[in-house]
Amino acid sequence: MSTRSLGKLSRGKTHIMCRRCGRHTYHASHKICSYCGFGKSKRMRCYAWQTKTRSGKRKK
Ligand SMILES: [Zn+2]
Repeated sequence: MSTRSLGKLSRGKTHIMCRRCGRHTYHASHKICSYCGFGKSKRMRCYAWQTKTRSGKRKK
């Protein structure tokens, strides 16, 4: 992302720091955090694919 010569994409900040999860994933214009879903839902956003912890239910 640092060596991007296309000037269109680097206009302003897209994601700012989320005040709920503290990550740099809060979309400044959409007002939704892409990590925890802050701004969209009151509950924490949770998907199976984002959990890296193995709960022993893997298919081989
Ligand atoms: Zn967040």
